Amino acid sequence: MRYVFAPPATVSVPIVGTADRFAVHRIYCVGRNYEEHAKEMGFTGREPPFFFMKPADAIVAAEPGRPASLPYPSLTKNLHHEIELVVAIGTGGKDIKAPDAHRHIFGYAVGLDMTRRDLQGEMKKQGRPWCIGKAFDHSAPIGPITPAAQAGDISHAEIYLQVGGLDRQRSQVSQLIWTVAETIEHLSSAWELQPGDLIYTGTPAGVGAVVPGDILTGGVTGLQTLRITIC
Ligand code: MN
Repeated sequence: MRYVFAPPATVSVPIVGTADRFAVHRIYCVGRNYEEHAKEMGFTGREPPFFFMKPADAIVAAEPGRPASLPYPSLTKNLHHEIELVVAIGTGGKDIKAPDAHRHIFGYAVGLDMTRRDLQGEMKKQGRPWCIGKAFDHSAPIGPITPAAQAGDISHAEIYLQVGGLDRQRSQVSQLIWTVAETIEHLSSAWELQPGDLIYTGTPAGVGAVVPGDILTGGVTGLQTLRITIC
């Protein structure tokens, strides 16, 4: 096979404990999946989960023990952090039932769903797609993936984000409105999941702006810490 230009390099994420890497297929994101965050965004109640996507090459993969750099994106004056538990799919499938979801999970990582909040807000107001607010270049930082067997009981992990060493977001994965298994059930009824898919499962309350020079530290108990510098 010959191409008219070199095909893009495969996007990948390091895996804890091995030199092998996780090749990324798609990035799915869940909206408003913690009640306190839904409230701070002006919504209440348990609505069915909804999804949006980011391109695979929006990944900024932090290598183990090393912070990654995130260039401050164009067009925005209000770049927000959203710390999230990321589920890495290892076995694909469609119409997966929640009790079977664990069989499809390769592992977990700490991710940031970076958001150009001003542009997202404008699109919301006009009833237009969120792409410009959510799916921009470098919008999906992620730390190394921990295989599920080594991650422990992720459903009761603590999740947090600090900026410059000060708490911005802190909650428990148990506060998810839709659990990881329920999310996989909903998602796989709409799309056939593939190995390499990543699911950003939603952010707890406390989202806010970052500026160049900020150092972000995000964690989920049992997973490798994600460190990002905004440049
Ligand atoms: Mn999010």
